[in-house]
Amino acid sequence: MPVYPLDEIKKYFESAGPMEQLLPDYRFRQEQVNLTVAVSAALFDHEFLLAEAGTGVGKTFAYLLPAVLWSLQENEKVVIATRTKALQQQLIERDLPDVKRIIKADFTCAEAKGRENFLCWNKYINILAGKKRLQEGEIEFLQSVLPWAEQSETGDRKELRLSSALMKHWDILAADRKSCRKDKCLYHEKCFRLKMIKRLEKSQIIVTNHALLLSDVQVDNRLLPEYHYLIIDEAHSLDREAFDKLSLRFSFGDSMELLEYLQKAHLPHIKELSSVDRELLEECLTHISMAVKLLKEYFSALNRPLSSKNNYEPTLVIKAADLEKAWFLEALEIHQDWQDIINLLLKDLKKLEECMEGVEESEELSRIIISLQEEADHAFQINEEHSFQSDMLVWLDCERGKVKAVSSSPVCIASELQNRLYHKLESLVLVSATLAVEERFDYFLNKFGLTQLQEEERLKTLLEKSPFDYEKQAGYILLDDMPARDEPDYQEKLAGILSQIIDITGGRTLILFTSRQQLKDIAGIIRPHCERNQVKLLVQNEDGGFETLKEQYTAHPRSVIMGLDTFWEGIDLKGDLLKCLVIIKLPFRSPEEPFCQAWEKYYQQLNQSGFRCFLLPDAVIRLKQGVGRLIRGENDRGAIVILDARLGKSSYSKVFLNSLPFKNPRVLSCMQFTQELKKWV
Ligand code: SF4
Repeated sequence: MPVYPLDEIKKYFESAGPMEQLLPDYRFRQEQVNLTVAVSAALFDHEFLLAEAGTGVGKTFAYLLPAVLWSLQENEKVVIATRTKALQQQLIERDLPDVKRIIKADFTCAEAKGRENFLCWNKYINILAGKKRLQEGEIEFLQSVLPWAEQSETGDRKELRLSSALMKHWDILAADRKSCRKDKCLYHEKCFRLKMIKRLEKSQIIVTNHALLLSDVQVDNRLLPEYHYLIIDEAHSLDREAFDKLSLRFSFGDSMELLEYLQKAHLPHIKELSSVDRELLEECLTHISMAVKLLKEYFSALNRPLSSKNNYEPTLVIKAADLEKAWFLEALEIHQDWQDIINLLLKDLKKLEECMEGVEESEELSRIIISLQEEADHAFQINEEHSFQSDMLVWLDCERGKVKAVSSSPVCIASELQNRLYHKLESLVLVSATLAVEERFDYFLNKFGLTQLQEEERLKTLLEKSPFDYEKQAGYILLDDMPARDEPDYQEKLAGILSQIIDITGGRTLILFTSRQQLKDIAGIIRPHCERNQVKLLVQNEDGGFETLKEQYTAHPRSVIMGLDTFWEGIDLKGDLLKCLVIIKLPFRSPEEPFCQAWEKYYQQLNQSGFRCFLLPDAVIRLKQGVGRLIRGENDRGAIVILDARLGKSSYSKVFLNSLPFKNPRVLSCMQFTQELKKWV
């Protein structure tokens, strides 16, 4: 076992040490040293670590330093995965260069990104050669991209500074798995994505995001170079992302588009080529007509449970009892016929592809074959396998009372991660500002299948609280007489309270919602009030997306953001930028979401309560993320106002209160709270 130079690592953090000399805002924090010691131990002793480091601990340098020193000493790769692109970029562009200066040693690092971020030379050259007919917006986009494409060293879309209206055409140039010519590509040597892969091979530190990490896990490490040491930052959100990444989807729109493209565009086009067997092509067209008809019948059968209930929910989970119902059995039978016809079609298309060897159009045909095969594989697994497995959840994605896709996902990601990820790792560090519930890690350990590793003493946990003095820096107000959401005067009362808060703060306020509809309704009521008082109201989706709202908020002191999910954890407003944070509701997810239904099914099988084991701790972690928006530095000051009376009155409120960094809320009525608020803003 290698010996780790712990004293040497600690020296970097000491007062007047290299960190203090080189980083402008650095100050010694014992919590940061404790975390760095724990990360070092995990890497050097080949252990797993689960660490919560509250806001202000400085977790990034606490893991980067030991990761780099370990990598240099042992000549091993370390992969670091973050949730957000912003943090990924910050690590590559700012923090890792800082680490080089701090340790006065050079090392190689590279960013691993999905292929869709890179320009594909094959697509680009084909477009320039006029082989693809472009629409109006696409021509303008191409003209704007030309100078960059000819000069770019990386081909990474992040270098482009174009409007979102132009960037929406990026796909025409983006590398994608299905159209990639791989070894047959004429531009292999110049390929930007392959250059990235070469950089990753040579790098000691690889920075990636959760999505790419999970895709790599899903394809048994065929995307990233082999690695045995992994650090996952922002680990609190990995389960939600894993649920999406490990899901399969069979979509009516995608399958229909493929079949119709073949039927109406590609096959009629290649019909004119001399190398094409016309009889075979006609046979393909007959199969396509049948496949289209069956596809419509299959989705129409799936629509039946929706129309019978007049159901306009966005999703419908298929339960065990549904497997015996007539609509499901009928859909299954039609699906089997569809699979038979698709298999015949694929067989004939492959024969066509063979006789078109060397012909340019065969490239497009190959792409269609891969896509169609993938659709058929997904449909088969979902319908014939996953629907009948107790460890899988199958659900219908609906829009305006019609099924648009059928999807499946494992009910618990733990076994997937155990089988595909943990077993190959020597060390894993999971870190975030919000992992513990009531200062315990059981929720996270269970959810991620790490309990056994802890029992075997291969996993350690660490909880380092924020060094900020929340009691002195913030007022924490809970309104205990807000009506419940279903009471008739709720909307009016809420709008009145928000108007009062905005009048007191005059801006620099972030209001977090959990419901899109409620956000829209309340924004409609209070917008005229804000306009009369020269306050700029920035409402997510109505006034722009996340980045636009953030920019406008920063530029206008008298502004207020009203936001949803992305603002609960994705925004960092330091100093005077944020004076008041308002939380409308405790952030419970809708139990109807497939993600929640999956956990419900999992805990039901264990005879445990899905609410206690999943919905409640999940909401606690999300609330911790939300309240963490207010105090981002030791000089920050402000108020949090929570407008959900359940936080003080419900049977589970203790779980929230024991988990938050703020203690002892001032429980006040709607009539009393303004005086308290004025003290803090
Ligand atoms: S190898 Fe694939 S992604 Fe790269 S340029 Fe060729 S077709 Fe495009």
